[in-house]
Formats: sequence, C-alpha cells, structure tokens
Amino acid sequence: MTAVAEKLRAATALLETVSGTPRLDAELLLAHVLGLTRSDLLLRQRDLGVPASFDGLVERRLSGEPVAYITGIRDFWTISLRVTPDVLIPRPDSETLIEAAVAHFAERPPRAVLDLGTGSGALLLAALDQWPQARGLGIDISPGALGVARENAARLALSNRADFRIGDWADGVNGPFDLILINPPYIARNAPLSGDVLHEPQGALFAGAEGLDDYRRIALQLPRLLSDGGMAAVEIGHDQRDSVSALFADRGLAVEARRDLAGHDRCLAVTPPAAD
Ligand code: GLN
Repeated sequence: MTAVAEKLRAATALLETVSGTPRLDAELLLAHVLGLTRSDLLLRQRDLGVPASFDGLVERRLSGEPVAYITGIRDFWTISLRVTPDVLIPRPDSETLIEAAVAHFAERPPRAVLDLGTGSGALLLAALDQWPQARGLGIDISPGALGVARENAARLALSNRADFRIGDWADGVNGPFDLILINPPYIARNAPLSGDVLHEPQGALFAGAEGLDDYRRIALQLPRLLSDGGMAAVEIGHDQRDSVSALFADRGLAVEARRDLAGHDRCLAVTPPAAD
C-alpha cells in the first residue's frame, strides 16, 4: 500500500468518531496539505508523500472543527468559495435554490439578481456564474461576511457584476429584481444541534422561538422587490413548508415547494400573483 493510501486509511478510522464522512474529510485535508485537488490526489497518490502537517489538520477535525474552515475552501454549484468562521459553510441543500431558478428562467435569463443574507456570496456568485449577462447585489448584516463575499467575487472574476452592501434584509433596497435568493436563519432558538453547525456564526442560524422571525420580515418586503415574471428562491427547514408558505401567501404571493436531494422540502419558489 502506498504512503498516501495507508495514511488515508488511518485518518479515516480516527475521523469516524466525529464525522459522517470520514474518508472524504481525510482526502480533502490531505489534498489541501499537498496543494492539490482531491481528484489529483487520488490519481497521483503513488508519487506522493504525506507531509507531517497533515496530522495537525486531522487533530483539528477530531476536535470538531469543520473541514471547510480548516481548508478555507468549499465547492458550491459550479464555483469554489473561500469560507471563514464569519460565514455559514455553503451546503449542497442550498443548490436546490439555484436549481429552482434554472428551471424558472429556462427561456429568459434573469438580468438583476438580489441575494439577501449573502454570507460567503455563494448563492449570488453561483447565479452570476450561471447567467453571464446578470448583475447582482448581495446584502448582509455582518461586515465580516461581506469581506468574505467581496473576496470571493474577486477570486471568481465576478466583481464587475456583483455589488455588496451592508444591510438589514431589504431595508432601503430598491427593486425590482428578476431573481431573489434568500437563505435566512431558520433554526428555532432552542433546537438541539451537534456537529459542524456548532462552529458556524449563530446569527446566520437562529431565528427566534420557531425559526420564523426572519421570514416574517422578508415576507413584508418581497412583493415590492420582485419584477413581473420574477422569482424568489427561499430556503426553508425541512418542516417549515406550510408555516413559511402561509407567510408569503398572506402577502398575495404564489408559492411552490421544491425538494432537496434527500427528498426534504428545502426551497420555496415564490412568484408574484398571476395578472388577471
Ligand atoms: N441548513 C442549515 C442547518 O440545518 C441551516 C441554515 C440556515 O439556518 N439558514 O444546518
């Protein structure tokens, strides 16, 4: 067995105690130490040694630190993003929002995109990468997050189409926008949590007693922000379809739920009422 294979096997066995994806974690950490992509690591492993610093990264993961905060990088949709503890780690679940947008805008691409609570910039930058003619605005209340989002826009050569601004949801923002992407905090204040989420910014996760506080504010703002033919893709918790849909329906908006790859309700596609 090669040094790499042996080391990956040992690290995987250790990481089984803290992670649901121990082998993947070990590969990502070793690829990071070697400055390689994961696929290059696996293809070239016969020629590679294992630097001593790998053990330190495995120790950090064993203490519960998320892989993405250790490597500082996370892939999302078609892009690779820098992440720090100032931002939520982009999740595959959130790609459901981009999928919903791709379906809605199959015939006519969106031109103006708004991302409320942009964090790392993941949703906005994925949309700008998807639609080369689109321009976007990302809002966040956290100055640290905005720094990360701006850095990501620059790294992806998207700064000329992406503006970022500090703000409290859409207060002071003028529409209309064709596509509005929103992944607000939606976890109930007292929900028991474990794993990576314990290391993430609390302000990006918790939203009052039932996890609905931010949706209530967003529902008041959406009608004036959406263009005719536009759509908002709003992330929800797996058991929030009915409660959040009702908040938007009360504002006269049309709502359809979309599921993530695990089959959970994850996204509401929200559109203006059909003109009669
Ligand atoms: N999906 C995240 C989680 O359950 C929560 C993200 C959020 O609150 N926006 O870990």
